[in-house]
Amino acid sequence: MTPPLSTPGPTLGVVGGGQLGRMLGEAAGPLGIELIVLDPTPECPASPVVRDQIVGEFDDEEAVRELADRSDYLTFEIELADPDLLERLETAADVPVHPSPDTLRTIQDKLVQKDTLTEAGIPVPEYRPVDDAAELRAALDEFGTPAMVKAREGGYDGRGNVPIESPDDAESVLDSIAGPAMVEKFVDFERELSVIGVKGDEEVATFTTGENVHREEILRETIVPARASEDVLERARSVARDVLGLMDGRGVYGIELFETEEGEILVNEIAPRPHNSGHWTIEGAVTSQFEQHVRAVTGRPLGSTEQRDPTVMTNILGDVDETQPAELHGLDEILSTPRAALHWYGKRDVRPLRKMGHLTLTDSGVDPDEPAGSPDQLLARARDLRDAVTFTEG
Ligand code: ATP
Ligand code: MG
Repeated sequence: MTPPLSTPGPTLGVVGGGQLGRMLGEAAGPLGIELIVLDPTPECPASPVVRDQIVGEFDDEEAVRELADRSDYLTFEIELADPDLLERLETAADVPVHPSPDTLRTIQDKLVQKDTLTEAGIPVPEYRPVDDAAELRAALDEFGTPAMVKAREGGYDGRGNVPIESPDDAESVLDSIAGPAMVEKFVDFERELSVIGVKGDEEVATFTTGENVHREEILRETIVPARASEDVLERARSVARDVLGLMDGRGVYGIELFETEEGEILVNEIAPRPHNSGHWTIEGAVTSQFEQHVRAVTGRPLGSTEQRDPTVMTNILGDVDETQPAELHGLDEILSTPRAALHWYGKRDVRPLRKMGHLTLTDSGVDPDEPAGSPDQLLARARDLRDAVTFTEG
């Protein structure tokens, strides 16, 4: 049973204080739950909306211990959290950690993650571990080129992924990855999809299947529902539920999928945390993924995952050539558009393609003079609004 509300409320400690931590903080307030985040960057994006920030590395034993000592529950918003340390503290500091450190450990290594999915009979792109160039060339013999070489650990936003065009490049590609690697057959996907799922205390829920548009391997837009057949949307949800069944511990999971040309669903990867492709839920669903995560990891009942309206989310990325102090221009169009919502992450510096914020456009069609547009129209409008903002003016 949820304990009665009082102030100060219970404290949720979060390893990581980036934009996900910030949006977790925004969601936790109304529930009467306070956040403390651990992040190495002083005045990290989450800091203005949380009770306190501990400045320290994600795997700094002393800092994580302090976080555990000051918290009633622990979670993480970044995969760089240290599962061994969290596991030890769960016992030593007697603080529940969700999702489970063991699930984090499985997900951190893309090879172990894919092995786990494969053992459970969940479809994934064909893959092989590769320890050297000869093994990579042998795999390419089988998979053909192009193929995708991936660092097993530490990659994000496409960093750590290198498409390989020819077996002659095996050495140089592996050198550029430095560290354990794997290779995947290149999937000629029809679409990329994702399902945001949440595991509560003996309950599991999924949000509407979204469609993700990537460029340069970075998420640009999410369109919900995905522009796929009902059948495909449902299959995606069903695969996602199978994946959630394998995950240990409560919380939100982002499940990235490929829809093949044949309409088959393959799992690309799992994130054991709120996911960029779930940001649309803040305006587009009854309960946001961030609120769901807070509810789940603190053992409260989940909210409804029902979608309110057709929704498009687009990331606002650094459109600069080099790092500089961030100043975003051209906001009036977004702010004067009904049903457009701006989310600024509060990062001091902008870097090329850095995620600086996002905007969400929902189409409720509640105005009889302005009937709901098609998903394509909604996407085009969201792109226009995004393209009107820039870091490069002046
Ligand atoms: P994220 O951006 O979610 O942090 P990441 O850096 O861990 O992701 P992946 O999700 O593995 O990287 O890959 C990023 C993108 O690269 C995918 O969304 C997809 O567009 C493309 N990609 C990855 N693997 C494959 C593949 N086997 N075939 C074709 N495209 C792929
Ligand atoms: Mg990904």
